[in-house]
Amino acid sequence: MDIHITKTLPETIARRAITPASPNYDEARALYNGMIDKKPAAIVPCRNADEIAEVVAFARESNVLLAIRGGGHNGPGLGSCDGGIVIDCSPMTGIDIDVDARTVSVEPGLSQGEVDRATAPYGLHVPAGIVSSTGIAGLTLGGGHGYLAREYGLTIDNLLEAEMVLADGRRVTANERENEDLFWAIRGGGGNFGVVTKFTYRLREVSDVLAGPVFYDTEHTARIMRWYREVLPSMPRKLSMTLGLKRCPSAEGFPEELWNRPVCALICCYDGPEEEARGVVEPLLAELPEPLMNGLMEMPFVDWQGAFDPLLPKGLQWYWKGDYIHELSDGAIEEHLKFGTDTPSNLSLMHLYPIDGAPQERAADATAWGTRDATWSMVIAGIDPDPANAAKVMHWAKDYWTALHRHNRHGGAYVNFMMEDEGEERIRAAYGTNYDGLVAVKRKYDPDNLFRVNQNIRP
Ligand SMILES: Cc1cc2nc3c(=O)[nH]c(=O)nc-3n(C[C@H](O)[C@H](O)[C@H](O)COP(=O)(O)OP(=O)(O)OC[C@H]3O[C@@H](n4cnc5c(N)ncnc54)[C@H](O)[C@@H]3O)c2cc1C
Repeated sequence: MDIHITKTLPETIARRAITPASPNYDEARALYNGMIDKKPAAIVPCRNADEIAEVVAFARESNVLLAIRGGGHNGPGLGSCDGGIVIDCSPMTGIDIDVDARTVSVEPGLSQGEVDRATAPYGLHVPAGIVSSTGIAGLTLGGGHGYLAREYGLTIDNLLEAEMVLADGRRVTANERENEDLFWAIRGGGGNFGVVTKFTYRLREVSDVLAGPVFYDTEHTARIMRWYREVLPSMPRKLSMTLGLKRCPSAEGFPEELWNRPVCALICCYDGPEEEARGVVEPLLAELPEPLMNGLMEMPFVDWQGAFDPLLPKGLQWYWKGDYIHELSDGAIEEHLKFGTDTPSNLSLMHLYPIDGAPQERAADATAWGTRDATWSMVIAGIDPDPANAAKVMHWAKDYWTALHRHNRHGGAYVNFMMEDEGEERIRAAYGTNYDGLVAVKRKYDPDNLFRVNQNIRP
């Protein structure tokens, strides 16, 4: 590890840097995914764009590896690096809500839950992901999908503007009128183009929701998957329904007799009053066998957003594999039955997140995230608290994915569901026909690839 770089850090950076000699080094370098153990030479908490620009300049001039950390949630730990410098955005937690204009500006150290909790009192939300502790920055830059995607699009479809520090030190604004090419690229292209110091989003009105998981015996899995692929496209967009193959969590709030039992899950969220929601959801579910558990209840959207947080604390072992899915073929369902109905641990899962509806209304080249004809973003996540089980959950995820992948016509996945060992071809496939455009923007804004700790677009 190149620890000596800390000795040459300019004094203004060195005095706030956390290095291997600092008592809080291990705490500061720990990432959400306990499987990743990166040891940067210096972690530099930054409070504003000036402090970020200073670190960017030092890394550029000293040719030091540079990582940018938002929420530190990334699967392969791309918010950190070995031996280099980490720009740690966590002190940047400013938020500015304009209720009349229905916009919110947020700094990159916030989690999506912190954004949700700040906007919820106004009945307004940024469409984002489904676990509160995820960083709003990395989630947005990869695309961002969650319960509101079918109704309001991806997080990037609600992004109005970003303020950034570029590789050459310039501070710029990117939106539909200024630096439009940069604005296009950051909507899906990750942290390849600069450090975002502020995001401005359009806010959406979201009332209470009817939400919760409905669990079925796995003997019904094939029937439920065939039903799901048929009915999803015609479901109202206010309804998000994720299909999951997993086990009932062994946790408070779930019937003890179901703990650890493999289940086929429909995870629902209807944005609307309870009576209207039940009028839509109940007739749909009536087409299916009797569930083992029906956890649907009315609640504020912000509560549902945080509902899975207690199950997924920081430090678990995670191995992710993803794919975009257009059709759920009978052949694919066969593979799901083989791998998904006997997951290797209580938390391991396969989720099919619906991205039909609003995301499909935009052209494939409207943003760098271009797979706008897919129906689902799939994730297979091997998860376990015990490092001794890391290899087991990783092999399960890889084998499951390998068996399924040949049934998918798209070669790529959502970049936020990819690990670091997937190779350049997978990154190209993730962006499809937008890849060449991303390379052109990279050459313009970061020709020396200073920002390369990410799913890298090579200039
Ligand atoms: C439990 C869990 C649930 C998830 N659920 C969802 C979901 O529902 N929907 C969804 O879309 N995704 C989801 N994800 C994936 C998530 O979007 C990614 O893990 C994302 O990378 C997390 O962002 P972060 O800021 O926390 O990550 P970090 O690890 O801090 O950074 C991730 C990447 O973004 C870059 N980056 C971070 N901040 C900046 C910045 N300010 N400027 C430029 N680049 C930056 C980093 O360099 C790095 O390459 C989930 C992840 C987890 C662990």
